[in-house]
This record gives sequence, C-alpha cells and structure tokens, in this order.
Amino acid sequence: EIRGLARSFNAMTAQIAGLVERQRSFAGDASHQLRTPLTALRGEVEMAIRQPGSAEDVGRRFASQLEEIDKLKRLIDQVLTLARAEAGEIRLTRESIDLGQLAGSLVDQLEPVAQAKGVALHSEPALAPVVVGGDPNWLERLILNLVDNAIKFTPEGGAITVSVSREANTARLTVRDTGIGITPERMPHIFERFFRADPARSSGVEGVGLGLSLAKWIVDRHHGRIAVDSQPGQGSTFSVFLPLAAD
Ligand code: ADP
Repeated sequence: EIRGLARSFNAMTAQIAGLVERQRSFAGDASHQLRTPLTALRGEVEMAIRQPGSAEDVGRRFASQLEEIDKLKRLIDQVLTLARAEAGEIRLTRESIDLGQLAGSLVDQLEPVAQAKGVALHSEPALAPVVVGGDPNWLERLILNLVDNAIKFTPEGGAITVSVSREANTARLTVRDTGIGITPERMPHIFERFFRADPARSSGVEGVGLGLSLAKWIVDRHHGRIAVDSQPGQGSTFSVFLPLAAD
C-alpha cells in the first residue's frame, strides 16, 4: 500500500514539476516575444526625438509607432488568452451550432482580406446542416485562426477552400490551401507555443506562433481532433474533427 502511495506521490510531483517548467518557459518565451516590438517602438521614438523632421515626417513616424503599438497589443491579447486558457480559467458555453453556416459566414467575412492578397477564398457548402455542440465564440476563433494562416502562407494566385462535411458521427471541417506548405521536420512542432516554421520564409508574415496552439486548445476542449496534411511547395490541409451534437 505504501509503495502504491509512493508511486502516486512521485507521479504527482513529476506532474507538478512539468507544469511549473511549462509555465516558466511560457513566461520566458512570452517576454522574449514582447521585447521585439517594444525595442522597435523605442527605436522609433528615439529617432523622432533626435531628428525632428517636417510635419509630414512626424505624421509618418507616429503612424509607424501606432502600428508597433497595435502589434504589441495583439500579441499581449494572444498571450493573455493562452495563459488564461492553460490555467483553466476559461469556461466554455455549449450551444448547438451549424458548423457549415458558421464557416460560410466567416469565409464571407475574410474574403476581402484574401482578395486584397490576390488569393481566392471560398467555401464549399455542406449538403445538410452539420450540427456540433460547442462554444460559438471559440469555434469562430478556431476557424478564423486556420483561415488566417491559410491566407498568410499562400502566395498571390493561390486558392483556399473551406469545407464542412459529416462522416459517421463526426463533423469534419477542412481548410485547404495551395500555399508554401510545411516540411516534415517542422510538422511535429507547429502546434507548439511560439513555434514558427522557417523564420526566414515566414519573416514579413505577421504572427508569433500562438494561433495553432490556441486552435489545438479549442479543439481539445470540444473533445475533437486536429490533423494536418501538407506538401512543401504545394499546400496544406488542416482538418478538424468534432463530435456531432446528439440529434
Ligand atoms: P503564426 O501564424 O502566428 O506564425 P501559428 O501557431 O498559427 O503561428 O502557426 C505556426 C507555424 O505553422 C507558422 O509560423 C507556419 O510556419 C506554420 N503554418 C501554419 N499554418 C500554415 C499554413 N496554412 N501553411 C503553411 N504553414 C503554416
């Protein structure tokens, strides 16, 4: 009995140690990511003080500083959301949601963003309603993150298709793009926090590597599964499987 107790105790300590370590590395990574836009902002302000220019120059600098501030704010929002999610502080609601309808309306919303980049974005309508039980705001966040990535990593002239279907007692949401794809070595890491495959390739593409961690958290909380299939240079397909709501 004592041996059993010792084993459970050891398992518990290991679990706590893992948790503390994850929190520590999260705090470290987050601070590191926050420093970059802050350093850029500091540089801009310093320059503005040292070289006062024409009214036009000043306006341009303020605009650029505002951009850095917005970036910083988006980053802080993302970090806070993920930290709250991981601390178990977020309660999800549970409603019946027609996944096809939700995906269709988000595609309509993002279509102008894709079009501005020269990428075709469309949704394949589901044949019948595909209803899942879940939190509409978080499921919306999930779809937005996947489509947003597809737009970011698909060069001009490419196409993105979002489809929703029903397979046995599972709902399937697919976001398929003809973008840059993901190499097999990087594939196992893309759901890790702050992971960005090939910084050289994705430099200039905004993001810090939190979108897919949050996507995975949302899918887990809905008792689902997320899978990726990708060919470098050809494109990627992200598939989300969620249990159908009981009829
Ligand atoms: P972010 O988009 O902020 O970089 P994510 O967590 O959403 O972070 O994605 C992590 C990494 O996975 C991205 O930096 C990118 O390298 C890769 N990735 C995600 N989605 C795609 C996609 N549709 N096509 C190619 N690469 C992708």
